[in-house]
Amino acid sequence: MADTKQRVAFIGTGIMGAPIAGHIMDAGYPLTVYNRTKAKAQPLIDRGAVWADSAVAAASDADVVFTMVGYPEDVEELYLAGDGLLTATKPGTILIDLTTSLPSLARDIAEAAAVSDRMAFDCPVTGGESGAIAGTLTAIVGATEHDIEPVRALLETFTARIFCFGGAGKGQAAKLTNQVALASAMVGMADALSLAQQSGLDLEQTRQMIMSGTGASGAMESLAPKALDGDWKPGFKVKHLIKDIRLALDEAEEKEIALPGTDTAYALYDMLDAIGGADLGTQAITLLYQEEGEAVAAGLDWSLYTEAHEHDDECGCGHDHGDHGEGCGCGHDHGDHDHECCHGEGHGHHQDGDHECCHGHGHGHDNADGHECCCGHHEE
Ligand code: NAP
Repeated sequence: MADTKQRVAFIGTGIMGAPIAGHIMDAGYPLTVYNRTKAKAQPLIDRGAVWADSAVAAASDADVVFTMVGYPEDVEELYLAGDGLLTATKPGTILIDLTTSLPSLARDIAEAAAVSDRMAFDCPVTGGESGAIAGTLTAIVGATEHDIEPVRALLETFTARIFCFGGAGKGQAAKLTNQVALASAMVGMADALSLAQQSGLDLEQTRQMIMSGTGASGAMESLAPKALDGDWKPGFKVKHLIKDIRLALDEAEEKEIALPGTDTAYALYDMLDAIGGADLGTQAITLLYQEEGEAVAAGLDWSLYTEAHEHDDECGCGHDHGDHGEGCGCGHDHGDHDHECCHGEGHGHHQDGDHECCHGHGHGHDNADGHECCCGHHEE
Protein backbone atom coordinates (compact mmCIF):
# COMPACT_ATOMS: atom_id res chain seq x y z
CA MET A 1 0.00 0.00 0.00
CA ALA A 2 1.32 3.44 -0.89
CA ASP A 3 2.58 5.52 2.02
CA THR A 4 0.19 8.44 2.41
CA LYS A 5 2.02 10.06 5.30
CA GLN A 6 2.97 13.69 4.77
CA ARG A 7 6.62 14.45 4.14
CA VAL A 8 7.90 16.48 7.04
CA ALA A 9 10.82 18.91 7.31
CA PHE A 10 12.03 19.82 10.79
CA ILE A 11 14.28 22.84 11.31
CA GLY A 12 15.96 23.38 14.67
CA THR A 13 16.85 20.16 16.46
CA GLY A 14 17.96 21.53 19.83
CA ILE A 15 16.76 20.54 23.31
CA MET A 16 13.08 20.59 22.28
CA GLY A 17 13.27 20.09 18.53
CA ALA A 18 15.27 16.85 18.56
CA PRO A 19 12.86 14.80 20.70
CA ILE A 20 9.81 16.28 18.95
CA ALA A 21 11.26 15.37 15.55
CA GLY A 22 12.03 11.93 16.95
CA HIS A 23 8.35 11.35 17.79
CA ILE A 24 7.31 12.42 14.31
CA MET A 25 9.78 9.96 12.81
CA ASP A 26 8.69 7.20 15.20
CA ALA A 27 5.12 7.68 13.95
CA GLY A 28 6.30 6.81 10.45
CA TYR A 29 6.48 10.21 8.80
CA PRO A 30 9.36 10.62 6.32
CA LEU A 31 11.57 13.26 7.94
CA THR A 32 14.18 15.68 6.62
CA VAL A 33 16.10 17.70 9.19
CA TYR A 34 18.26 20.79 9.30
CA ASN A 35 19.93 22.46 12.26
CA ARG A 36 22.50 25.24 12.35
CA THR A 37 24.89 22.90 14.15
CA LYS A 38 24.69 19.55 12.36
CA ALA A 39 25.96 17.54 15.33
CA LYS A 40 22.70 18.16 17.20
CA ALA A 41 20.78 16.47 14.37
CA GLN A 42 23.15 13.50 14.18
CA PRO A 43 21.17 11.18 16.49
CA LEU A 44 18.09 11.72 14.28
CA ILE A 45 20.16 11.11 11.14
CA ASP A 46 21.52 7.92 12.71
CA ARG A 47 17.92 6.79 13.22
CA GLY A 48 16.98 7.41 9.58
CA ALA A 49 16.21 11.10 9.13
CA VAL A 50 17.52 12.70 5.94
CA TRP A 51 19.93 15.59 6.43
CA ALA A 52 19.59 18.74 4.29
CA ASP A 53 22.29 21.38 4.02
CA SER A 54 19.97 24.33 4.57
CA ALA A 55 16.53 25.13 5.90
CA VAL A 56 15.31 25.85 2.39
CA ALA A 57 16.72 22.56 1.07
CA ALA A 58 15.00 20.69 3.91
CA ALA A 59 11.65 22.36 3.26
CA SER A 60 11.48 22.56 -0.52
CA ASP A 61 9.93 19.14 -1.03
CA ALA A 62 7.99 18.89 2.25
CA ASP A 63 4.23 18.85 2.80
CA VAL A 64 4.62 20.11 6.37
CA VAL A 65 7.48 22.20 7.78
CA PHE A 66 8.16 22.58 11.50
CA THR A 67 10.49 25.21 12.91
CA MET A 68 11.77 25.13 16.49
CA VAL A 69 14.55 27.70 16.69
CA GLY A 70 15.64 30.15 19.37
CA TYR A 71 14.45 33.72 18.93
CA PRO A 72 11.96 35.79 16.92
CA GLU A 73 14.91 37.03 14.84
CA ASP A 74 15.68 33.44 13.81
CA VAL A 75 12.04 32.87 12.90
CA GLU A 76 11.83 36.08 10.88
CA GLU A 77 14.99 35.26 8.97
CA LEU A 78 13.84 31.73 8.21
CA TYR A 79 10.36 32.65 7.00
CA LEU A 80 10.46 36.16 5.62
CA ALA A 81 13.91 36.53 4.06
CA GLY A 82 13.80 36.85 0.28
CA ASP A 83 14.84 33.24 -0.22
CA GLY A 84 13.09 32.03 2.93
CA LEU A 85 10.63 29.25 3.65
CA LEU A 86 7.62 31.08 2.30
CA THR A 87 9.09 31.27 -1.17
CA ALA A 88 11.15 28.06 -1.16
CA THR A 89 8.29 25.71 -0.22
CA LYS A 90 5.65 24.33 -2.58
CA PRO A 91 2.24 26.01 -2.72
CA GLY A 92 -0.04 24.18 -0.31
CA THR A 93 2.70 23.54 2.23
CA ILE A 94 1.70 23.89 5.88
CA LEU A 95 4.32 25.66 8.02
CA ILE A 96 4.17 25.41 11.80
CA ASP A 97 6.37 27.48 14.08
CA LEU A 98 6.91 25.85 17.48
CA THR A 99 9.36 28.53 18.67
CA THR A 100 8.24 30.87 21.46
CA SER A 101 8.15 34.10 19.50
CA LEU A 102 6.35 37.38 18.85
CA PRO A 103 2.59 37.43 18.28
CA SER A 104 2.89 40.19 15.67
CA LEU A 105 5.56 38.25 13.76
CA ALA A 106 3.30 35.19 13.73
CA ARG A 107 0.53 37.32 12.24
CA ASP A 108 2.88 38.69 9.57
CA ILE A 109 4.01 35.21 8.64
CA ALA A 110 0.47 33.83 8.49
CA GLU A 111 -0.63 36.70 6.26
CA ALA A 112 2.36 36.35 3.94
CA ALA A 113 1.78 32.60 3.74
CA ALA A 114 -1.88 33.02 2.87
CA VAL A 115 -1.02 35.44 0.08
CA SER A 116 1.35 32.89 -1.44
CA ASP A 117 -1.03 29.92 -1.13
CA ARG A 118 0.62 28.31 1.90
CA MET A 119 -0.73 28.01 5.41
CA ALA A 120 1.40 29.04 8.39
CA PHE A 121 0.45 29.11 12.04
CA ASP A 122 2.13 29.65 15.38
CA CYS A 123 2.18 26.66 17.68
CA PRO A 124 4.43 27.25 20.67
CA VAL A 125 4.49 24.43 23.18
CA THR A 126 4.77 23.98 26.91
CA GLY A 127 5.83 21.01 29.00
CA GLY A 128 9.59 21.41 28.92
CA GLU A 129 12.31 19.05 27.82
CA SER A 130 10.73 16.21 29.79
CA GLY A 131 7.41 16.74 28.00
CA ALA A 132 9.20 16.80 24.65
CA ILE A 133 10.98 13.53 25.44
CA ALA A 134 7.77 11.91 26.69
CA GLY A 135 5.73 13.25 23.76
CA THR A 136 3.26 14.86 26.14
CA LEU A 137 3.67 18.54 25.31
CA THR A 138 0.81 21.00 25.24
CA ALA A 139 0.40 22.72 21.86
CA ILE A 140 -0.78 26.34 21.99
CA VAL A 141 -2.14 27.03 18.55
CA GLY A 142 -2.73 30.29 16.71
CA ALA A 143 -5.35 28.76 14.44
CA THR A 144 -8.77 27.09 14.65
CA GLU A 145 -9.61 23.43 15.24
CA HIS A 146 -10.72 23.32 11.61
CA ASP A 147 -7.46 24.85 10.37
CA ILE A 148 -5.30 22.23 12.06
CA GLU A 149 -7.33 19.21 10.88
CA PRO A 150 -4.84 18.30 8.11
CA VAL A 151 -1.98 18.17 10.65
CA ARG A 152 -3.77 17.10 13.83
CA ALA A 153 -2.40 13.56 13.67
CA LEU A 154 1.12 14.94 13.26
CA LEU A 155 0.71 17.30 16.22
CA GLU A 156 -0.60 14.42 18.28
CA THR A 157 2.64 12.50 17.81
CA PHE A 158 4.31 14.79 20.37
CA THR A 159 1.47 16.35 22.36
CA ALA A 160 -1.01 15.29 25.01
CA ARG A 161 -3.19 18.40 24.70
CA ILE A 162 -3.90 20.90 21.95
CA PHE A 163 -5.41 24.31 22.69
CA CYS A 164 -6.59 26.24 19.63
CA PHE A 165 -6.81 29.97 20.29
CA GLY A 166 -8.39 30.73 16.95
CA GLY A 167 -6.23 33.17 15.01
CA ALA A 168 -2.68 33.90 13.92
CA GLY A 169 -0.51 35.18 16.78
CA LYS A 170 -2.92 34.05 19.48
CA GLY A 171 -0.87 30.94 20.16
CA GLN A 172 2.13 33.15 20.92
CA ALA A 173 -0.01 35.55 22.97
CA ALA A 174 -1.32 32.62 25.03
CA LYS A 175 2.15 31.12 25.42
CA LEU A 176 3.38 34.42 26.86
CA THR A 177 0.70 34.21 29.56
CA ASN A 178 2.15 30.81 30.46
CA GLN A 179 5.63 32.31 30.62
CA VAL A 180 4.37 35.09 32.89
CA ALA A 181 2.94 32.48 35.27
CA LEU A 182 6.14 30.48 35.04
CA ALA A 183 8.37 33.51 35.70
CA SER A 184 6.67 34.27 39.00
CA ALA A 185 6.56 30.57 39.91
CA MET A 186 10.34 30.42 39.47
CA VAL A 187 10.80 33.36 41.83
CA GLY A 188 8.35 31.78 44.27
CA MET A 189 10.27 28.52 44.16
CA ALA A 190 13.60 30.22 44.75
CA ASP A 191 12.25 32.48 47.52
CA ALA A 192 10.66 29.52 49.30
CA LEU A 193 13.82 27.39 49.16
CA SER A 194 15.88 30.29 50.45
CA LEU A 195 13.56 30.86 53.41
CA ALA A 196 13.51 27.13 54.15
CA GLN A 197 17.30 27.01 54.07
CA GLN A 198 17.65 30.00 56.38
CA SER A 199 15.07 28.44 58.71
CA GLY A 200 17.14 25.27 58.97
CA LEU A 201 14.44 23.10 57.42
CA ASP A 202 14.99 19.91 55.47
CA LEU A 203 14.72 21.26 51.93
CA GLU A 204 13.37 18.16 50.22
CA GLN A 205 10.80 17.67 52.97
CA THR A 206 9.78 21.31 52.58
CA ARG A 207 9.50 20.88 48.83
CA GLN A 208 7.25 17.86 49.25
CA MET A 209 5.10 19.69 51.78
CA ILE A 210 4.66 22.62 49.37
CA MET A 211 3.85 20.22 46.52
CA SER A 212 1.04 18.73 48.57
CA GLY A 213 -0.75 22.05 48.97
CA THR A 214 -1.67 25.33 47.37
CA GLY A 215 1.94 26.49 46.94
CA ALA A 216 2.55 23.75 44.38
CA SER A 217 3.88 24.65 40.93
CA GLY A 218 5.60 23.05 37.99
CA ALA A 219 8.72 24.92 39.05
CA MET A 220 8.58 23.39 42.51
CA GLU A 221 7.78 19.97 41.10
CA SER A 222 10.38 19.58 38.38
CA LEU A 223 12.97 22.33 38.78
CA ALA A 224 13.43 22.57 42.54
CA PRO A 225 14.79 18.98 42.65
CA LYS A 226 17.42 19.90 40.07
CA ALA A 227 18.40 22.97 42.06
CA LEU A 228 18.64 20.93 45.26
CA ASP A 229 20.86 18.41 43.42
CA GLY A 230 23.10 21.18 42.07
CA ASP A 231 22.13 20.21 38.52
CA TRP A 232 22.28 23.40 36.48
CA LYS A 233 22.11 21.80 33.00
CA PRO A 234 19.50 23.43 30.80
CA GLY A 235 16.18 21.83 30.12
CA PHE A 236 15.07 25.41 29.52
CA LYS A 237 17.86 27.96 29.08
CA VAL A 238 17.99 31.15 31.15
CA LYS A 239 18.51 33.18 27.97
CA HIS A 240 15.29 31.80 26.48
CA LEU A 241 13.26 32.62 29.58
CA ILE A 242 14.70 36.14 29.49
CA LYS A 243 13.60 36.36 25.86
CA ASP A 244 10.09 35.22 26.81
CA ILE A 245 9.83 37.59 29.76
CA ARG A 246 11.01 40.43 27.56
CA LEU A 247 8.37 39.56 24.95
CA ALA A 248 5.67 39.47 27.65
CA LEU A 249 6.79 42.78 29.16
CA ASP A 250 6.78 44.38 25.70
CA GLU A 251 3.23 43.15 25.13
CA ALA A 252 2.22 44.49 28.55
CA GLU A 253 3.81 47.86 27.84
CA GLU A 254 1.95 48.09 24.57
CA LYS A 255 -1.28 47.40 26.44
CA GLU A 256 -0.31 49.89 29.17
CA ILE A 257 -0.48 47.39 32.00
CA ALA A 258 2.17 46.42 34.52
CA LEU A 259 3.21 42.86 35.36
CA PRO A 260 4.97 43.32 38.70
CA GLY A 261 5.74 39.65 39.29
CA THR A 262 7.21 39.37 35.83
CA ASP A 263 9.29 42.52 36.39
CA THR A 264 10.83 40.92 39.46
CA ALA A 265 11.62 37.73 37.58
CA TYR A 266 13.19 39.77 34.79
CA ALA A 267 15.42 41.59 37.26
CA LEU A 268 16.68 38.33 38.69
CA TYR A 269 17.21 36.53 35.39
CA ASP A 270 18.90 39.60 33.95
CA MET A 271 21.28 39.46 36.91
CA LEU A 272 21.91 35.76 36.35
CA ASP A 273 22.63 36.47 32.70
CA ALA A 274 25.02 39.28 33.65
CA ILE A 275 27.13 36.96 35.79
CA GLY A 276 27.45 34.31 33.10
CA GLY A 277 24.32 32.17 33.57
CA ALA A 278 22.68 32.58 30.14
CA ASP A 279 23.12 28.95 29.12
CA LEU A 280 22.30 27.38 32.47
CA GLY A 281 18.86 25.95 33.20
CA THR A 282 16.27 28.30 34.68
CA GLN A 283 16.58 26.51 38.05
CA ALA A 284 19.92 28.33 38.42
CA ILE A 285 17.93 31.31 39.73
CA THR A 286 18.46 29.72 43.16
CA LEU A 287 22.20 30.42 42.84
CA LEU A 288 21.47 34.13 43.27
CA TYR A 289 20.50 33.36 46.85
CA GLN A 290 23.56 31.27 47.68
CA GLU A 291 27.05 32.02 48.92
CA GLU A 292 29.41 33.15 46.19
CA GLY A 293 31.36 29.89 46.31
CA GLU A 294 28.41 27.90 45.09
CA ALA A 295 27.84 30.31 42.22
CA VAL A 296 31.52 30.10 41.27
CA ALA A 297 31.34 26.30 41.28
CA ALA A 298 28.48 26.56 38.79
CA GLY A 299 30.65 28.74 36.52
CA LEU A 300 29.22 32.12 37.54
CA ASP A 301 31.29 35.20 38.21
CA TRP A 302 29.81 38.01 40.33
CA SER A 303 32.59 40.39 39.28
CA LEU A 304 31.02 40.49 35.80
CA TYR A 305 27.93 41.99 37.37
CA THR A 306 29.97 44.63 39.15
CA GLU A 307 31.77 45.54 35.93
CA ALA A 308 28.55 45.72 33.97
CA HIS A 309 26.84 47.88 36.53
CA GLU A 310 29.61 49.87 38.15
CA HIS A 311 28.72 53.03 36.28
CA ASP A 312 25.26 53.20 37.62
CA ASP A 313 23.66 52.54 40.88
CA GLU A 314 20.98 50.29 39.57
CA CYS A 315 21.06 46.71 40.63
CA GLY A 316 19.33 45.35 37.59
CA CYS A 317 16.03 44.95 39.32
CA GLY A 318 14.57 47.91 37.56
CA HIS A 319 14.53 50.01 40.67
CA ASP A 320 16.14 53.32 41.03
CA HIS A 321 17.92 53.19 44.34
CA GLY A 322 19.25 56.68 44.02
CA ASP A 323 22.38 57.81 45.77
CA HIS A 324 21.71 56.12 49.00
CA GLY A 325 23.86 53.13 48.33
CA GLU A 326 21.07 51.13 49.80
CA GLY A 327 21.17 47.43 49.36
CA CYS A 328 18.41 45.73 47.55
CA GLY A 329 17.97 42.76 49.70
CA CYS A 330 19.63 39.58 48.52
CA GLY A 331 22.62 39.91 50.75
CA HIS A 332 25.30 39.96 48.07
CA ASP A 333 27.87 42.65 48.07
CA HIS A 334 28.51 43.65 44.47
CA GLY A 335 31.62 45.66 44.88
CA ASP A 336 32.76 49.16 45.47
CA HIS A 337 29.47 50.83 46.01
CA ASP A 338 28.38 48.45 48.67
CA HIS A 339 25.58 47.85 46.32
CA GLU A 340 23.53 44.78 46.80
CA CYS A 341 21.44 42.93 44.32
CA CYS A 342 17.86 42.03 44.75
CA HIS A 343 15.57 39.12 44.95
CA GLY A 344 12.38 40.72 45.76
CA GLU A 345 12.92 41.89 49.29
CA GLY A 346 13.21 45.33 50.59
CA HIS A 347 11.56 47.15 47.71
CA GLY A 348 8.47 49.12 47.62
CA HIS A 349 9.68 50.96 50.67
CA HIS A 350 9.91 54.61 50.36
CA GLN A 351 13.30 55.62 49.04
CA ASP A 352 12.82 59.33 48.83
CA GLY A 353 12.73 59.58 45.09
CA ASP A 354 10.63 58.64 42.17
CA HIS A 355 10.78 55.04 43.07
CA GLU A 356 9.07 52.56 40.83
CA CYS A 357 8.41 49.28 42.39
CA CYS A 358 8.06 46.07 40.48
CA HIS A 359 6.42 43.60 42.70
CA GLY A 360 3.46 45.00 44.30
CA HIS A 361 4.51 46.04 47.76
CA GLY A 362 3.07 49.10 49.29
CA HIS A 363 0.99 50.32 46.41
CA GLY A 364 -2.30 51.92 46.28
CA HIS A 365 -1.17 53.97 49.19
CA ASP A 366 0.63 57.06 48.23
CA ASN A 367 0.70 57.59 44.53
CA ALA A 368 0.82 61.31 44.77
CA ASP A 369 4.58 61.47 44.95
CA GLY A 370 5.17 59.74 41.69
CA HIS A 371 4.99 56.13 42.76
CA GLU A 372 3.61 53.78 40.22
CA CYS A 373 1.01 51.30 41.20
CA CYS A 374 0.83 47.72 39.97
CA CYS A 375 -1.47 48.47 37.09
CA GLY A 376 1.11 50.78 35.57
CA HIS A 377 -1.12 53.82 35.66
CA HIS A 378 0.15 56.90 37.37
CA GLU A 379 -2.25 58.59 39.65
CA GLU A 380 -1.79 62.27 39.64
P1 NAP B 1 17.91 25.17 21.82
O1 NAP B 1 18.37 23.91 22.43
O2 NAP B 1 18.85 26.33 21.79
O3 NAP B 1 17.43 24.83 20.32
C1 NAP B 1 17.27 25.76 19.29
C2 NAP B 1 17.91 25.16 18.07
O4 NAP B 1 17.60 25.94 16.93
C3 NAP B 1 19.45 25.12 18.21
O5 NAP B 1 19.88 23.80 17.96
C4 NAP B 1 19.89 26.09 17.12
O6 NAP B 1 21.09 25.75 16.48
C5 NAP B 1 18.77 26.01 16.14
N1 NAP B 1 18.66 27.18 15.29
C6 NAP B 1 18.58 28.47 15.65
N2 NAP B 1 18.46 29.25 14.56
C7 NAP B 1 18.46 28.41 13.50
C8 NAP B 1 18.36 28.60 12.09
N3 NAP B 1 18.20 29.81 11.56
N4 NAP B 1 18.41 27.51 11.29
C9 NAP B 1 18.55 26.28 11.83
N5 NAP B 1 18.66 26.03 13.13
C10 NAP B 1 18.60 27.10 13.97
O7 NAP B 1 16.58 25.68 22.52
P2 NAP B 1 15.28 24.87 22.96
O8 NAP B 1 15.30 24.71 24.43
O9 NAP B 1 15.08 23.69 22.10
O10 NAP B 1 14.17 25.97 22.67
C11 NAP B 1 13.75 26.27 21.36
C12 NAP B 1 12.58 27.26 21.44
O11 NAP B 1 11.52 26.65 22.17
C13 NAP B 1 12.91 28.56 22.16
O12 NAP B 1 12.19 29.59 21.57
C14 NAP B 1 12.42 28.30 23.58
O13 NAP B 1 12.10 29.50 24.22
C15 NAP B 1 11.20 27.45 23.29
N6 NAP B 1 10.81 26.51 24.37
C16 NAP B 1 11.74 25.84 25.10
C17 NAP B 1 11.32 24.95 26.08
C18 NAP B 1 12.30 24.20 26.95
O14 NAP B 1 11.90 23.73 28.03
N7 NAP B 1 13.56 24.04 26.51
C19 NAP B 1 9.95 24.73 26.30
C20 NAP B 1 9.03 25.38 25.49
C21 NAP B 1 9.47 26.27 24.53
P3 NAP B 1 22.50 25.60 17.26
O15 NAP B 1 22.52 24.17 17.66
O16 NAP B 1 23.52 25.97 16.26
O17 NAP B 1 22.42 26.55 18.42
